[in-house]
Amino acid sequence: MTESVLCYIGLGSNLDQPVQHVQCALEELALLPNTVLLQHSSLYSSTPVGPQDQPDFINAVAALSTRLSPDALLDELQALEQAHQRVRERHWGPRTLDLDLLLYGNEVIDTDRLKVPHPYMTERNFVLYPLAEIAPMCEIPGADTLTTLLSGCTLGSLTKLQV
Ligand code: AMP
Repeated sequence: MTESVLCYIGLGSNLDQPVQHVQCALEELALLPNTVLLQHSSLYSSTPVGPQDQPDFINAVAALSTRLSPDALLDELQALEQAHQRVRERHWGPRTLDLDLLLYGNEVIDTDRLKVPHPYMTERNFVLYPLAEIAPMCEIPGADTLTTLLSGCTLGSLTKLQV
């Protein structure tokens, strides 16, 4: 068990009532062992990355304080994905729930199963805008400031939902 670490989780869903999947996952994150859900962003809708013949995604970002190790936290996130009956059919294809460990304190992790900061987070509007909503001064190891990253990342079709 480690000291409490501030983490950020990216949530995404585009199947089977995705708003409910994301809202439910936020409640489940709050119930993780040795973890406190500090805050979460609004929900956003975004067009899919990769294959376009799939529904839009619902996304959000959550801030956690956790005493779980990075691997233990990833285990918990993957168990939640499984509990949402996620079926992985193709890369970047539709999924009932996707949970990404975006940041784990200021740690840089590069193992076979875990890469933190999450490799795509600096170029995804559906990560950067929700993250900026809850943590505008957040630092991403090895990357520009969030303000600079946002200036190079268009809002595009990303839409904040009123739910
Ligand atoms: P994805 O298609 O995004 O759900 O990828 C899942 C795979 O990414 C799993 O095998 C994880 O072990 C791996 N992975 C690597 N880094 C991360 C991360 N930061 N958060 C979540 N999964 C990760």
